Amino acid sequence: MITPHLFKDKTMAVLGLGRSGRSVAKALVRAGARVLAWDDQEKSRKTAQEEGVPLVGLHTVAWNQVDHLVLSPGIPHHYPAPHPLVARAQLAGLQPISDIEILCLSQPQATYIGITGTNGKSTTTTLIGHVLQDNKVKREVGGNLGIPVMDLQPLEKGGFYVLELSSYQLEITPSLHCHISVLLNITPDHLERHGGMEGYIAAKKLIYKNATPQDVLVISVDDSHCLTLHESLRDVGGVKLIPISTCKRLDDGISVKEGTLYENGQAIISLKDFDCLRGQHNWQNIAAAFGVLRSVGLSAEAITKSIASFPGLAHRQQQVAQYKNITFINDSKATNAEAVAKALACYRDNPLYVLFGGRPKEGGIGSLRPYFPSLTHAFLYGEAASAFALTLEGKVPYTLCETLQEATQAAAGLALKENKPDAVVLLSPACASWDQFQDFEVRGEVFCEVVREICA
Ligand code: ADP
Repeated sequence: MITPHLFKDKTMAVLGLGRSGRSVAKALVRAGARVLAWDDQEKSRKTAQEEGVPLVGLHTVAWNQVDHLVLSPGIPHHYPAPHPLVARAQLAGLQPISDIEILCLSQPQATYIGITGTNGKSTTTTLIGHVLQDNKVKREVGGNLGIPVMDLQPLEKGGFYVLELSSYQLEITPSLHCHISVLLNITPDHLERHGGMEGYIAAKKLIYKNATPQDVLVISVDDSHCLTLHESLRDVGGVKLIPISTCKRLDDGISVKEGTLYENGQAIISLKDFDCLRGQHNWQNIAAAFGVLRSVGLSAEAITKSIASFPGLAHRQQQVAQYKNITFINDSKATNAEAVAKALACYRDNPLYVLFGGRPKEGGIGSLRPYFPSLTHAFLYGEAASAFALTLEGKVPYTLCETLQEATQAAAGLALKENKPDAVVLLSPACASWDQFQDFEVRGEVFCEVVREICA
């Protein structure tokens, strides 16, 4: 755990008491700060109180006597409108900061690796953490994923904080200085929170805002937004650039072409056998991780050896079991059609029994039409079932089910009965989980549990 002694005797308002909010509030208490913590949700306040977080109704606080406002990244401070308490703090001249800002200020001796992008952040962050650990490099992994940063261990000089950073977190972490930063990709997302695409890109650019000419930026050149940023940085200088691509072979960067990883145009290894990182999107994550790890000083051989032992991330095309002719895949994190398309692209050549369902998102599964001919059978469950059935009608055979459990059993039953070799039963729901589950993780665990019962 980190104790941010820098904030001893400071008055610190903490707004938002989810996992990271509670963690930073407790860290500030340990440091001897005067902590005023609040959450609009009674349930969150109760949990915080049980953990010893001092609650204060921030509605009556004199903001001119507060030194800092530590804000949970999920709470708006700008668009679509600032939370009323944030607006009051801003009137008193306070700019909200994140728990990661507190980490950066209190652990300045460490080296920072920051990973952002619209998709692939968690995979890339975890992969970099795995390879560093495998090579006995001292590192701590957290941020937007997993462990709240105040619960990480303090690091000596030479240790690495590997941080997944969302656009929300970047906006409230002004002191972040990534020695190595990664910008994986930019496609429209969270636009309401950034006032449009320009605001979203501006937030992503903050990953390298404090970079010096000694620092490294690993950046994709595959999407138009990242490409524009790369071109302007190449002209201006100020940071060492490592471009990455999975579309073309690069002579001066890391690229993947037809499943082979290249460093500055030299073939390194085929990625086709890395079962836990299947698909072109994961090749982008590998290319980015490789660029980072080479900058850390690891050899290409050491890196690829460690990538081969990466177990993959739960709920992201996670191989759960193999039973008779079937491989079961849990892709519960695929909550929208864009993410589902990545999974469907990986199993185009397999008999594919896919589970779609939950609370539908705008647009449904219409954009998956190019993949319909490769679907053997769809199992539809939850709130989305009848709308998805209309989209599939006459194009893909489907079965309507009530629950995920029922859909999993039905899919396994049909795949066993048809007994086609190399069949895949894939949960890639294209929906939020909230109609039947607390979150995508619980949904994925339920799927795994049913699969285990089937295989027993
Ligand atoms: P994030 O942390 O950015 O949400 P994850 O690594 O958790 O990303 O992956 C979430 C989903 O996004 C995956 O299931 C996959 O479908 C898709 N994905 C992963 N990496 C990429 C990438 N580099 N480009 C596009 N989509 C990706």
